[in-house]
Amino acid sequence: MTAQGPSVTSSDFDSGRPLVLRGGTVITMDAGRTVLHDADVLVVGTQVEAVGQHLDVPEGTIEIDARDGIVMPGMIDTHRHMWQTAMRGYGADWTLTQYFVWYYLQHGKAFRPEDIHAGNVLSAIEALDAGVTTSVDWSHGLQTVDHADAAVDALESVPGRFVLAYGNIQAGPWEWSAQPEFRDFVSRRFTGSDMLGFQMAFDVTGDPAFPEKAAFEVARDLDAPVTTHAGVWGATNDDGIRLMYENGFMEDRTIYVHAATLTADSYNRIAATGGNVSLASESEETCGQGYPPSWALRAHEINTSLSIDTSVWMSGDLFTAMRATVGSDRAREHLEAHAKGETVTHVHLHAEQAVEWATLGGAHALGFGGRLGSLEPGKLADLVLIKNDASPAMFPLLNPYGHVVYQAQRGDVHTVIVNGRVVKHDHALIGIDLPAVRREVESTVEHLRSELGEEAWIAGMNPEVPETKVLDNPYQYTDYASSATHATRNE
Ligand SMILES: [Zn+2]
Repeated sequence: MTAQGPSVTSSDFDSGRPLVLRGGTVITMDAGRTVLHDADVLVVGTQVEAVGQHLDVPEGTIEIDARDGIVMPGMIDTHRHMWQTAMRGYGADWTLTQYFVWYYLQHGKAFRPEDIHAGNVLSAIEALDAGVTTSVDWSHGLQTVDHADAAVDALESVPGRFVLAYGNIQAGPWEWSAQPEFRDFVSRRFTGSDMLGFQMAFDVTGDPAFPEKAAFEVARDLDAPVTTHAGVWGATNDDGIRLMYENGFMEDRTIYVHAATLTADSYNRIAATGGNVSLASESEETCGQGYPPSWALRAHEINTSLSIDTSVWMSGDLFTAMRATVGSDRAREHLEAHAKGETVTHVHLHAEQAVEWATLGGAHALGFGGRLGSLEPGKLADLVLIKNDASPAMFPLLNPYGHVVYQAQRGDVHTVIVNGRVVKHDHALIGIDLPAVRREVESTVEHLRSELGEEAWIAGMNPEVPETKVLDNPYQYTDYASSATHATRNE
């Protein structure tokens, strides 16, 4: 007997019974980029068991109705500063300079371990809700190991797949990585589980003395990948890449975040060492790291993944990241052609490629290549059903990749499965106490607001607008109006 779609309740999902999503449009992201229509995905245990039409399923399989929906691999975010999520939207009008002053120089120190926890829990839940099944928590607010324990406690309390990228903007990486309590933390909290990975997160300033070398050596010792903000205008540049290269620290599991303001020489070094870029187009477009480099990454055949960066400014879902990426890539292609008096008749970056970056690209970057990022038998069962029968934007469903990139949004995420477990169904998260998280976040906001004082709090959210010079215009509206009147009279 199978439980039919409408009668499925969240308690059914605790049973450990197999699951089948029935009758959807399935974006498999397999090697042939197969898209199946009216197709099923069967999940048994933690894995995808079968993908195809009219699948025979084991007795007792729970059935989820995927008709009029798109089933795709869970999305993967390779760079998100989760701890900042308790400040959601606060910096909407910031530049990178204002962000650095606020977090790095003035107020980042005010975050207590419980504030890191609050931001992380909210961010982790937000990711799952939007169909992001794996997220890298680029956690550079870890002033003490207590902060780090709070970050991991939060990630472990939410049933998603996470990677903690340990960092601390209040100290040099050669300082915090040398502390015995840091090593103790790593051995206490990380067991090599597929659900919780570990990276080291720090930037390389380009100082010729290369003080970051000691931190790279610790990472090597711990067998931990390094993720680094690279090619960020005014902060990191080609010198950092060159120092990493010359000292042998560029690996095929290294992630270069943004990689926006770099020369071809640096892209060549990244490509030659098999490195990965985490593209945060919405961030690069607004903050000033440099133009989103997808066009350069394509030209150098560098593995590309997508990321959110931070909800203190930007959106927390990968639909927006895909849309921003396709938009910035095509905008540049048209602009460069127009500057030469040419017309682009065929764009290079297709929606399919953006979906690939949001799934397979992230899986590869995080060392899950071959195990995540596609829906094929034997893969880990992280998947998303995009379906919203109440939305006029969900039909007709003609171009599945185009629909994911340009039509669907987070509110259309119907069901989310991570490691074979249903964490969201029928647009509702399962087993998440959102009111408790709201209270936690409110207390963090209250703390930060009182630490800063009302004046600094308000000023931080409202940066000055530079003066805009309105250009001289030889045409006068009054002339236009009087001549129009004149013309009417003469009729
Ligand atoms: Zn970042």
